Formats: sequence, structure tokens, C-alpha cells
Amino acid sequence: MKGYSRRMKTLVIGGGIIGASVAYHLAARGTEVTILTGGHPGGVATAASFAWINAAPGNARPYYELRLQGILEWHRLQHEIGTKLAINWNGSLGWESDAKATAQPVPDHAAWGYAIRMADGAEAAKQEPGLSNYPDRAVLSSMEGSLSPVATAQTLLAAAADLGAQINDDTVRGLIVTDGQIVGTETKSGRINADHVVLAAGVANEQLAADVGVNLPMANRLGFLAHSAPLPPTLRGLVLSPDAHMRQNADGRIIIGEDFASGSVPDDTEAMAETLFAAARALVADSEHLVVEHHTLGLRPIPADGLPIIGPAAAVSGLYITVMHSGITLAALVGRLAAEEIITGQEVETLAPYRPERFN
Ligand SMILES: Cc1cc2nc3c(=O)[nH]c(=O)nc-3n(C[C@H](O)[C@H](O)[C@H](O)COP(=O)(O)OP(=O)(O)OC[C@H]3O[C@@H](n4cnc5c(N)ncnc54)[C@H](O)[C@@H]3O)c2cc1C
Repeated sequence: MKGYSRRMKTLVIGGGIIGASVAYHLAARGTEVTILTGGHPGGVATAASFAWINAAPGNARPYYELRLQGILEWHRLQHEIGTKLAINWNGSLGWESDAKATAQPVPDHAAWGYAIRMADGAEAAKQEPGLSNYPDRAVLSSMEGSLSPVATAQTLLAAAADLGAQINDDTVRGLIVTDGQIVGTETKSGRINADHVVLAAGVANEQLAADVGVNLPMANRLGFLAHSAPLPPTLRGLVLSPDAHMRQNADGRIIIGEDFASGSVPDDTEAMAETLFAAARALVADSEHLVVEHHTLGLRPIPADGLPIIGPAAAVSGLYITVMHSGITLAALVGRLAAEEIITGQEVETLAPYRPERFN
């Protein structure tokens, strides 16, 4: 991996949470950065995201460790950027329909150092006083958080701009590679030269990379969110019930999520939103005004093996790839480590399992 010289110019393709974080960290370390947002400063998948920051049970130990570091890194970044970077750190309260299934992952996950424990109904009520009924046994995960995804990406873009980064709404049509070296991009309004290019274009990375011979196999999946109109404070943190995952955004909207594991679009998204809200109304004490305002259907950028793809493309010198699901959880960490690798040319060991080359 070639090192970075201060005179070199870096283009970050993508203004979602990942591109914004990479660009911020590059600019904060004194490099010349231009961000091409494709007309979406704040992101595409980012704008459709549930935005839960977690290292919850369900992943193998190494990926759990990366996610845990991802959580901690948001705290570091809050120290660096200050109060403009707002994150709700009130944790999550979750349960399954079966009490045994609720408790099952807790001991192992606690042994891995996660702040996770069982709570009784009284503790659950203390965690989320705005609910109308509580399970006898629930799981409290106090390290978890959530953020307003577009606002956060835009905060990072603004912080990058304050440090001299250029933000440009142009769209990239293709990467320009000469003799195995990236030399720039072809955009809608012409060519932009660069010495380093970071692909942070979410689901669009796959095609942009394929066009220059870099294989990024993806297994993207649709995800659905239903939003209420702004409401007075109702939920403290995340509530993860068997029927609905919900949280309240900083703007007061309650957001309820559903994952379409099959990848197919539901026929009737209005009905889907109503079903989710009915489940939420059955749980929330003051639910009279808890009605659907709008819903969103977004494509989750998911690499074929489910793990992030982060690192230099071996076949194209100067091209750096960042594509992942759980980009909200990982953005602060990935932004810092990617910037370090690009600037120093030295590989960071933490990222070794996530290299693009694993698909070749
Ligand atoms: C329904 C749903 C729920 C989710 N829930 C969670 C969650 O709870 N926790 C979690 O951690 N993650 C979650 N995710 C995943 C997370 O949102 C994504 O991993 C993350 O937002 C990806 O960010 P990104 O910046 O890579 O991509 P995006 O936000 O998609 O941004 C891509 C950027 O690239 C730009 N772009 C694209 N093509 C071009 C081009 N040709 N030229 C210039 N710019 C271009 C776009 O305009 C945009 O600015 C969820 C995703 C969805 C859809």
C-alpha cells in the first residue's frame, strides 16, 4: 500500500455516513479532500436507516469486537467534534416472545464484556417509563445507542468542510485508471483528477468497482421503516419487542423497523406500516397520537459474506473501498482507520479480516 503525501488529492465518492466520516477524518488529519455526494449529502441507505448502534448478540467473536470498538469510537468522536455530534446513549430494552429465548444469549455476551443483563418488569419500567406493559424478563443493553442518521452525516460533512474539504454534489460516471493507478473520476460535469479515490457510494460501489475490474459481491436486502409525526418525549432508548423495533428520533418522530429477510418488496407498504404501528400502540402508554406519518423502503448495502469490505483494492493502486451494513455502528471507527491507512500507507491490523481481496 502506497503512502500519502500532503500534496496529494483525495476524492471521496459518497456523502452518506461512511463517506462523511472518512472525509472528516482525512480532513482532520490535514489532507486535501473533495467529497462527491451524488446529490445526496447525508446518504441514501443512511437516510433509510434505523440507525441503531450496537454489538448485539448474533455475530461471531471477531466481528463482535469490531462492532464493540465501533460503539466506543463514537464516544471518541463526540470528544473530538463536541456537542454538535448528538447521540442517544440510553441503551436498549429487548425481549422475545419466549422467555428462554430472551435470556439465552445473555451470559455468553456478558462474558465477552458487553454491558448486557437480564431485567425484571420493574427495571424495564424504569428503563422505558413510557410503555403500557412490560415483559416479566427483558434484556437491558446499556452500551447501545442511536442517532439521527442524515443529521449526523451532515454534521460530519460540515465538520470536514470547516477543515477545508470541498463538498460537491456531482455524480461519478466512472473511475479513471491508467497503468493500474487511479488518476481520477469522470463525473456528470467532467473529469476530476485525484491521486487517491475512496469508494463510499453504498450499493453503487459494486458497479463502480466492477467497471475497473474490482469484484465486490453484494447481497443487498430491503429494509422498511415507518415514521410517526413528531411526538413529545415517549421513548428513552431503543425498544426491541418481538413485534416491532422502535426508537424515538431527536426530532420527536417514533421510528419502527422491519427487516425483509427474503429481500422482496411487500405488496402493500401502507398496510405494513399500519401493522407495525398497531404493535407499537399496544406497547406505548400514551399512544393516541401514535399514527403513521410516512414510511421508507431502503436497500441495505450488504457484502456477500455479511462482513464489511474495507481497504485498498489490490488491482488498482490508490483506490480504497468502504462498503458495509451496520455502517451506522461502524462509521466512526471505519472513518478513522481508513483515513489512517490512506495517509500512512500502513495497514491497520484491526481491518485485516475485511479486505476486498477475500473475494478474489
Ligand atoms: C432499513 C435499514 C435499516 C438499517 N439499520 C441499521 C442499524 O440499525 N444500524 C446500523 O449500523 N446500520 C443499519 N443499516 C445500514 C446502514 O444504514 C448502512 O450500512 C449505511 O447507511 C451505509 O452508509 P454509506 O455511506 O455506505 O451509504 P449511503 O448512505 O447509501 O451513501 C452513499 C452515498 O454515495 C453517493 N453516491 C452513490 N453513487 C454515486 C456516484 N455515482 N457518484 C457520487 N456519489 C454517489 C450517494 O448519493 C450517497 O451520498 C440499515 C440500513 C437500512 C436500509
